[in-house]
Amino acid sequence: MRKIAILGAAESGVGAAALAKVKGFDVFVSDMEKIKENFKQVLREYDVPWEEGGHTPELILDAAEVIKSPGIPEDAPMVKKIKEAGIPVISEIEFAGRYTDAKMICITGSNGKTTTTSLIYHIFQKAGYNVGLAGNIGRSLALQIAEGCQYDYYVIELSSFQLDNMYDFRANIAILLNITPDHLDRYEGSMQKYTDAKMRIVQNQTEEDAFIYWNDDPIISAELRKYGIKAKMCPFSIIKKEGMIGYIADGQYVIEYPTPFNMEQESLSLRGKHNMYNSLAAGIAARISGIDDDSLRQSLSDFEGVEHRLQKVGRVGGVQYINDSKATNVDACWYALESMTTPTILIIGGKDKGNDYSAIKELVQKKCAGLVYLGADNTKLHNFFDGMGIPVADTNNMKDCVAACARMAKPGYTVLLSPCCASFDLFKNMEDRGEQFCEQVRNL
Ligand code: ADP
Repeated sequence: MRKIAILGAAESGVGAAALAKVKGFDVFVSDMEKIKENFKQVLREYDVPWEEGGHTPELILDAAEVIKSPGIPEDAPMVKKIKEAGIPVISEIEFAGRYTDAKMICITGSNGKTTTTSLIYHIFQKAGYNVGLAGNIGRSLALQIAEGCQYDYYVIELSSFQLDNMYDFRANIAILLNITPDHLDRYEGSMQKYTDAKMRIVQNQTEEDAFIYWNDDPIISAELRKYGIKAKMCPFSIIKKEGMIGYIADGQYVIEYPTPFNMEQESLSLRGKHNMYNSLAAGIAARISGIDDDSLRQSLSDFEGVEHRLQKVGRVGGVQYINDSKATNVDACWYALESMTTPTILIIGGKDKGNDYSAIKELVQKKCAGLVYLGADNTKLHNFFDGMGIPVADTNNMKDCVAACARMAKPGYTVLLSPCCASFDLFKNMEDRGEQFCEQVRNL
């Protein structure tokens, strides 16, 4: 029996293990850390052997193929050993894709993935389509297929780490929202390597497929010349230009292909420039999949958005508090700041992924009445922003942070948690950071 070894026993790894077992492979799961009880439960259910707290090379290096969790870096010692042994390393999505004929709608980009994925899922569900949600969001694709789900469509959020280990997988509709610096710590500081990973979304696409992308992204434009993309090209832009499939013109949200569609921009439920892009990408995917005018109009106007993304937490003492904990890179914070219409106290900081803050300097100058640093080590922020003549405060827990914001903010101001950084220095994850923020705001 062919053996499949799986590195990492969380959502994707455990799902892959279940599917591999169902498909008759000899399966072994190995995790460097302790495996969470809920995941052990699934492994037991599918009768998959595992180890935790370390990798035993002999139990892995006899596999025909290794499925690696996206969280494990390519240069992890065990991954290096596997590659030296010439064993192919694939991602869970690559593996799961072999066992379904569903149409795959795949979304990647540096920012906007979860919002766009959730919006597409919402549109398809409301239109009565038989659709599943997978990838970086919700339950793993592999587990759903292992359980026998028979969807006609899957809407899949793909990170660059998942794309890294994808080879034969084909996206019927591929969406590339933008490419801006992120995760460079995992790509040897190389923007090109990170870009190459994102561009893998178009590999294997055929003439029957569609490629939806943001026309005005300079990196995407430059990359397109390098690829002989066969799919139908579906660029979108915030302004009407030659060749655009989707755009905003005269207050109208317009899609031209495959059949014309328009609605009032004002009726779109998602706000902010970045969300226009997300709504255009989602709308094009919907039209290509045959979703009718009324249904699309309805869904684009009643989508409630996703938590921790420019989420209004509430108003205290005339100050609006906004949770954008998901802004874990500089570009996301740029869009958040750009959409601010009042003086803003910005909460910034956390685990820095090699950030260059120059991109937001001008907006900080223009929009911010105060900066509150929130990180285990705020030195880099002090060095970059302190000289700008804006009041700053240094904090290393959410309670002190929100208290500092409340002291700085005057009625009419906005306090914005849009930290540009990952959360792992002080919090479990970005959700934990966002929830602690909401809790402290409620306690004010
Ligand atoms: P991802 O899943 O790619 O991290 P999210 O939808 O979770 O994207 O949004 C992450 C952050 O980026 C949020 O702070 C959000 O406000 C911002 N954002 C959302 N869409 C875009 C976009 N198209 N361009 C830039 N920033 C965006």
